[in-house]
Amino acid sequence: MIFRPRIFLVLSLFLCVSLHAADHLTHPLADPPNWKSLEKFQKTITHDEFDRLLHGVYCSHGISDDFIRVDEKVACILMDRDAQSWFTLRFAPSEAKQAAIPRWWRPARALPKSKKKSAPLSGVKIALDPGHIGGAWAKMEERWFKSGDAAPVEEGEMTLLVAKMLAEKLRALGARVSFVRDKTEPTTPYRPDDFKETARGILKAEGIENPPEDFQRPDDPQREQSVRWQSEILFYRTSEIRERARRVNSILRPDVVLCLHFNAEAWGDEQNPTLTDKNHFHVLVNGSYLPPELESDDVRFEMLRRLLSRDFDEEIKIADPAALALAKKSGLPAYEYTKDIVTKVGTSGYVYARNLAATRLYQCPVVYFEPYVMNSVDVFARIQAGDYEGTRVVNGIERPSIYREYVDGVVDGLVEYYQAARK
Ligand SMILES: [Zn+2]
Repeated sequence: MIFRPRIFLVLSLFLCVSLHAADHLTHPLADPPNWKSLEKFQKTITHDEFDRLLHGVYCSHGISDDFIRVDEKVACILMDRDAQSWFTLRFAPSEAKQAAIPRWWRPARALPKSKKKSAPLSGVKIALDPGHIGGAWAKMEERWFKSGDAAPVEEGEMTLLVAKMLAEKLRALGARVSFVRDKTEPTTPYRPDDFKETARGILKAEGIENPPEDFQRPDDPQREQSVRWQSEILFYRTSEIRERARRVNSILRPDVVLCLHFNAEAWGDEQNPTLTDKNHFHVLVNGSYLPPELESDDVRFEMLRRLLSRDFDEEIKIADPAALALAKKSGLPAYEYTKDIVTKVGTSGYVYARNLAATRLYQCPVVYFEPYVMNSVDVFARIQAGDYEGTRVVNGIERPSIYREYVDGVVDGLVEYYQAARK
């Protein structure tokens, strides 16, 4: 059984004092915000720096005065809508007078200089997060399709293969590599059955009083209203991402997390998927919170924690060269979003800020790779060719395996950044 945590916070702050229950969370599995933990960020940021990150990166779609107010000396952030209690952040009077930023990860410039030229990543702690679970869970998480007699395409297996190959190369360059997931098994100890009551609660809140327990086919119109579908999502997405965040934040504590994915366009029927000519690539960092998302107390808190930790400044310095290096290797054009949910950041043209749970909950820089459309004609042929040494003619073009190309692009970008930053 999973209970929605309700804790009572006692907050004694600069301008406001309050005692109340945390509420208005995004999700029954969300952690209630611990605003007191942000006290350590007092006077660690100037007004101008706060303003730049708030409007340029995190609240680039606007933010209402009802939630965040920025004055010359302080910013006030709404902690609780019902109680109308506010967290007051005091700005540093100048950059020279700002206190050290309390955080466990190290930006490249704070790392000891690398002694050997052959080890430009020496001492850098890199956690690899292969997207999804794969294996026996691939169909449930809708990351599986099969075209004709060809082998099935499973993103969770492909991302794990990339992670293992990448780890070997990064270690050879001196990095200390850890895995957020290293097999095709869930990280979370829970399973869909553990979330049936929570699923019923979510459906009830959506006005569905007597939801069907099960669904028969992926195209069943009742599917998304069924207890099974809801409890499966709570398992493989919500609970799995939250457990990965717990591992990153309390056990692995890396300098950067690389989230590894393959992209796809809608493929329709998993047994008879649509193949497309579209193929593209983009990289995500955390930001671009949408106004309705910022109405949740936990999201405002987590956004502010990222802003104050200055994750973005390090993320973009890694993401830009890594995106350009992988774009060069793959020849892929930048993906252009059709919905206004992201903000283009940096200079490469490939990097977007977007508010994903994984990039929001990990308390360190996170660079999230989305290259290759798995159900494009070209990528599908490359996946069928599998991994191989050297080059081969695949779909009429001589080239390395798609996995080696992915790995080499990421490695080139990281080496370029860390070499330049640690000179
Ligand atoms: Zn993915």
